[in-house]
Amino acid sequence: MSSQRMLDRIRHDKRIWAHRVLTKHDQNPFFRVMKSVNAPVVDVEDRSVIMLGSNNYLGLADHPLVRAGAAAALDKYGATVTGSRLLNGTISLHTELEEALADWHGTEQALVFTTGYQANLGGISALCGVGDTIIVDSAAHASIYDACRLSRATIRAFRHNRVDLLEEKLSRSTGVVMVVVDGLYSMHGDLAPLDEIAAVCEKYDAALFVDEAHSVAVMGAKRTGAAELFGIEDDIDARMGCLSKGLGSSGGFVAGSKDIVDAMRVHARTFLFTTAGVPAALGAALASVQLMQTEEGAERATRTLANARYLHDGLVAAGVDVHAPSPLPDGTDMVSPIVPVNVRDDLRTVNTWRKLWDAGIFASAAMFPAVARDGALLRLCVQPDHTTTQLDYVVEKMGLFLGENSPTPDSAPAEVGAAL
Ligand code: PMP
Repeated sequence: MSSQRMLDRIRHDKRIWAHRVLTKHDQNPFFRVMKSVNAPVVDVEDRSVIMLGSNNYLGLADHPLVRAGAAAALDKYGATVTGSRLLNGTISLHTELEEALADWHGTEQALVFTTGYQANLGGISALCGVGDTIIVDSAAHASIYDACRLSRATIRAFRHNRVDLLEEKLSRSTGVVMVVVDGLYSMHGDLAPLDEIAAVCEKYDAALFVDEAHSVAVMGAKRTGAAELFGIEDDIDARMGCLSKGLGSSGGFVAGSKDIVDAMRVHARTFLFTTAGVPAALGAALASVQLMQTEEGAERATRTLANARYLHDGLVAAGVDVHAPSPLPDGTDMVSPIVPVNVRDDLRTVNTWRKLWDAGIFASAAMFPAVARDGALLRLCVQPDHTTTQLDYVVEKMGLFLGENSPTPDSAPAEVGAAL
């Protein structure tokens, strides 16, 4: 029997508004059941949709070499390793992948975790503890906040990308201090000004941990992430990345010096006390990392970034409110593969999502707590194989639903409003 008091509390918790959408309306953006997942056009439930809600930024999840890497690993090692890295769960693919990641990043070592979430949780909490201070960007990923809590360090947040406010916090912190930022923000699609952040970290002798979950495989000449764009790889203590997005597999890693990685190897609870990643994921990731260092890796990233720019510019021309491109140190700017459309209002976001769904377009709806309370948005992610015809169609529909002359939020279907 469930506790009635607990269930009542959950039901009436206004912060979890999504719970009400999920339980009261079946035409909502969440938990749609995919019949295929990794192409620019996929089948979801009863329809085919242009997929703009996937983190498969380079289209590698379905690449023949990546599939072959996964299949060979499955064939050799079976479905799972049934043990933690510490005991029986480390297989030769782990060490091969860790060496390949370290080589690629130009660091002494790298450590692979079962998920990116666990890489942040374990990596950050292994480096800082009681009495230390962790300063995070307010838009940092949930796993970073959870990691800070697990570490039991003092947590301070500064307003998104405001290096002046970060500096103010640094100037008032004593003892061991670590700054944690995303290289590329998952919801806003914007880059952190990593050159300025690294400079203030150095000035105040603070460590720097950068989450490159969304930028690894896509950004920089070697495509190791945003740090490369700013030329500050050597100023970062720990570079976290996901295997689950641009690299088309599953898992996460941290690259850094031997000392940093060793600290994680022995202190990261999410490394020590969980079953290691499945062999197929490691085999796929290894193939992807190898692919990254070929002409094809570069060419795929170039096509993705060109598609991002094309979509962004089209949306701007259609009068849709999109996030601005990120400035780069050389005076140019960059549109990342994440092109967020500001909607701000939750109800309008859900209703626009639904109109897109009916038009055969799959976007991701982001609302509080994924973004700020008044920061609801539709997150569009491009892949290299999206065609300009597909992107033009998305722009046309977005312009119709959210452009300057589109109808006001009042035109939302009443039943979705009721669900909220
Ligand atoms: N960091 C960031 C910035 C993320 O967006 C995510 C997940 N989307 C993670 C870490 C966790 O990665 P994973 O999904 O591989 O657990």
